[in-house]
Amino acid sequence: MSDCIFCKIVAGEIPSEKIYEDDKIIVIKDVNPGAPVHVLIIPKEHTDNILHAPSELLLYIQDKLEEIVKKLGVYEDGFRIVINTGVDGGQSVNHLHFHVLGGKTLGWPPC
Ligand code: 5GP
Ligand code: ZN
Repeated sequence: MSDCIFCKIVAGEIPSEKIYEDDKIIVIKDVNPGAPVHVLIIPKEHTDNILHAPSELLLYIQDKLEEIVKKLGVYEDGFRIVINTGVDGGQSVNHLHFHVLGGKTLGWPPC
């Protein structure tokens, strides 16, 4: 989508700090981190949210997760996956992305 900031990041039109990339996803550092470790797993193909994502893509990301969290150094101590969805969910970019947060003991609930 031409006006989507994450499509622009995927296309390399907006710079980002990449942790991982393959043909289906990129993993980049969040520009405004909420924890010592805060990255975004972003599918390369535009889908607005998890409700509209193909199941194969979600399974693919789940399969890659162990490799990604090992690379981030949060495999042992744990991490949080967040998928903000819609207005009440606090989604500010309408291109599906998984937040991966860690590097400290996170608070709960998040509101
Ligand atoms: P949401 O609020 O949609 O769940 O998450 C969007 C996230 O994208 C936010 O945490 C925000 O900091 C991050 N973000 C927004 N624009 C950019 C950008 O241009 N580069 C990077 N690396 N992160 C961004
Ligand atoms: Zn997009």
